[in-house]
Amino acid sequence: MAAEETVEHKYVYDFAEGNKDLKDLLGGKGANLAEMTNLGLPVPPGFTITTEACKAYLTTGREPDGLAAQIETHLESLERGMGRKLGDPQDPLLVSVRSGAKFSMPGMMETVLNVGLNDRSVVGLSAQAGGNDRFAWDSYRRLIQMFGKTVCEVPGEEFEHALDDAKRAKGTQNDLDLDADDLRGLVDAYKKIFAKHTGREFPQEPREQLDLAIRAVFESWNAERAVVYRRQERIPADLGTAVNVVAMVFGNLGADSGTGVAFTRDPASGAQGIYGDYLANAQGEDVVAGIRNTVPLQELERIDKKSYDELLDYMARLEEHYKDLCDIEFTIERGKLWMLQTRVGKRTAAAAFVIAGQLVDEGLIDLDEALHRVNGAQLAQLMFPRFQLDHEFQPVAKGIGASPGAASGKVVFTSARAVELAAEGESVILVRRETNPDDLSGMIAAKGILTSRGGKTSHAAVVARGMGKTCVSGADELDVNVPAKRFTVAGQTVNEGDVVSIDGTTGKVYLGEVPVMPSEVVQYFEGSLDPEHIDNPLVRAVHRIMTHADATRRLRVRTNADTGADAARARRFGAEGIGLCRTEHMFLGDRRELVERLILASTDEERERALAALLPLQRADFIEIFREMDGLPVTVRLIDPPLHEFLPPLEQLAVNVAVAQERGEDVAKEEALLAAVRRMHEENPMLGLRGVRLGLVIPGLFAMQVRAIAEAAVEVTRNGGYACPEIMVPLVGAVQELETVRAEAEKIIAEVVGDAGVEVLIGTMIEVPRAALTAGQIAEAAQFFSFGTNDLTQMGWGFSRDDVEGAFFWRYLELGIFGISPFESIDREGVGRLVRIAAEEGRAARPGLKLGVCGEHGGDPDSVHFFHEVGLDYVSCSPFRVPVARLEAGRAVLTTAGSDSR
Ligand code: PEP
Ligand code: MG
Repeated sequence: MAAEETVEHKYVYDFAEGNKDLKDLLGGKGANLAEMTNLGLPVPPGFTITTEACKAYLTTGREPDGLAAQIETHLESLERGMGRKLGDPQDPLLVSVRSGAKFSMPGMMETVLNVGLNDRSVVGLSAQAGGNDRFAWDSYRRLIQMFGKTVCEVPGEEFEHALDDAKRAKGTQNDLDLDADDLRGLVDAYKKIFAKHTGREFPQEPREQLDLAIRAVFESWNAERAVVYRRQERIPADLGTAVNVVAMVFGNLGADSGTGVAFTRDPASGAQGIYGDYLANAQGEDVVAGIRNTVPLQELERIDKKSYDELLDYMARLEEHYKDLCDIEFTIERGKLWMLQTRVGKRTAAAAFVIAGQLVDEGLIDLDEALHRVNGAQLAQLMFPRFQLDHEFQPVAKGIGASPGAASGKVVFTSARAVELAAEGESVILVRRETNPDDLSGMIAAKGILTSRGGKTSHAAVVARGMGKTCVSGADELDVNVPAKRFTVAGQTVNEGDVVSIDGTTGKVYLGEVPVMPSEVVQYFEGSLDPEHIDNPLVRAVHRIMTHADATRRLRVRTNADTGADAARARRFGAEGIGLCRTEHMFLGDRRELVERLILASTDEERERALAALLPLQRADFIEIFREMDGLPVTVRLIDPPLHEFLPPLEQLAVNVAVAQERGEDVAKEEALLAAVRRMHEENPMLGLRGVRLGLVIPGLFAMQVRAIAEAAVEVTRNGGYACPEIMVPLVGAVQELETVRAEAEKIIAEVVGDAGVEVLIGTMIEVPRAALTAGQIAEAAQFFSFGTNDLTQMGWGFSRDDVEGAFFWRYLELGIFGISPFESIDREGVGRLVRIAAEEGRAARPGLKLGVCGEHGGDPDSVHFFHEVGLDYVSCSPFRVPVARLEAGRAVLTTAGSDSR
């Protein structure tokens, strides 16, 4: 034990020591820098401080023992390698200090560049840059600005204003017109701002700069925007960030220098080719921030052919190595190319499918891997509609299609306003000159994002793509005036609240609301596109991957449908039966009055009349559904209405009666109704007289439904069809409830079916915790179970499903009590445990018991993986989610239990 304690924990890794598989420890950026270093690509030397060091710092509030000394050792080795010392007045080494978590969080955490500059080394830097004073002072002012804002929380605008003042004094709008003297003056101004806000001088000691910058990066893990981003992207909150300390290389040393971003394929469409942006004479941050407009990467061939060819060669090598789309950041310093970052690139949903298909064609990956690389959330996005454009709609501007989709909404200019209006249920489009990470909550709230500056790789674009949110960036015909809350375009003024439409595929911007049309992927699922004869690469890729998912999955996928039309559509989408037909939905509209009569009937005769009127209607409903689902199982759930949905509202009725009485009208009938409604009134209808309880209380109700189901099945079968009904009893908590219903149902079925050759199963929902815990007993009386995870969640947590999401879930999410609403994605540990217990005990009592799920969770990607693991036979979900469930059921087979399916 004592010996173990003396072994020093390794917190710092040289780039040559890491590799791409160490993302947990080195973060994505650090792991990939190490990988590129080991591939022999020109990466500036550096080292990575691990996520463990960050976690230790965040838990204890101080750097862990040994970290400072390890940094010193690695810094010395970096200095030796570069032949320069940090902050040396004659020939300084400068470093960048960059965050890098396991999962990319673009722009959400901090970076400090040019660490090591001070009043003395700025002179040495100038000499190093061939006497380029302007460059040296510009680098120094950038350091004070970034360091001040990031490390010491000096308000960023103060520096911006000082920069604007300097430009105004010079009579220019362009940073590049400021000369060395102007920048020297700006450094003085920045230092004063720094001293005013921090009460101390800007630190001149390079190692102190470095340590403070590292600490600031650690702390930026918990910055508000990072927290919001993690919640949105479902990234765990306890991973921490690594910190990369890298020798600086400069893209702003003149026309033979520059910086850029490259993709090995188009991250928007997936098309093969060279995509990216290049900005001459600039630092990397200038590109990502979208501050100046970039040129397409292809132009680099003209500007610097040698670097361009080299870059293309590295891109090809990286793609071959990673077997995937890579995105790359690079810098050219006086004609020498440096690779600053690579990673498997974020991409749109369409690109994910197209690229996976291409890589299979190219023999780089197999179909299993292709299936693993796409997901249900992406497929769901591809099922969104697109704009339906005709001559009436002319675009008023065209920017860059940065993240596809079609979005219309009211224009807002600030993140706060976007959040406010969205909370009122409005669709909004967030319009900005450029976005920065502080706009994140507005971007989440908005339907779409429109910026007048920036490119495909600027912050707005990267973040929007990650979220699957429509975004048009760099629409430079827009003159955006945020303080005045308006923009002008093509001679027209658009004010806050006016509606615009943006197309994130073409980059076009329209005034007013443009109607939408369905996606090609939906058309394919609908069967109106033949995948073998279409040259749409997306549809072909979707077809191929879906076919593989279907061949791979063990789970069957059914649908929740209550009408023939829904059943037909779901069948086209690949549903293999109906897992839940909610019969109470068949009692709405015109028939509501019949149900009201039934519930309020005071004599047997009244009740029987109401039931007799309902029987043929129900029979016709079931015939339609059985026909549409010919040959496939159809689970019909006996009626489960929360009573209040079928009775007139008590307050309204009471008021009507009182008013009528006041007027002296004859209200005998209304009074009787009021008395009955009062009698049946419940404080908690969701826990009241519903489901099987209603069936046991109102004689003949379930019997009528069972008869209608059996008669419909017989009729369809006699006409040459094949009906496979499964009668499901809702809200069972005790086996006795089920036995009572079953005994009556079996008699009716035997009488109706006779020798018609129809088999009718009788099973139950498991949606009351007691049912889950007594599943062994219940299975004796049930031919199948279907988990009603909506009610199981409601009753498992004691959360009223109609109230709590709006009432307080925001706070629970904020506190991290859960990362996502348990009504949306199954709570594996609690409600999931009930499912597991019921599945195991049910099957122990009745081997081979058929198990399914028909709560909302049946179409949620993560939950589908859980249901696969638990061993259910099928999931059932709404028609539109059927393809998503098919895909995820296939992926679930490939994902080992408990591993990350994000
Ligand atoms: C459930 O509770 O999960 C379920 C499917 O039934 P309903 O949503 O109709 O209560
Ligand atoms: Mg239910």
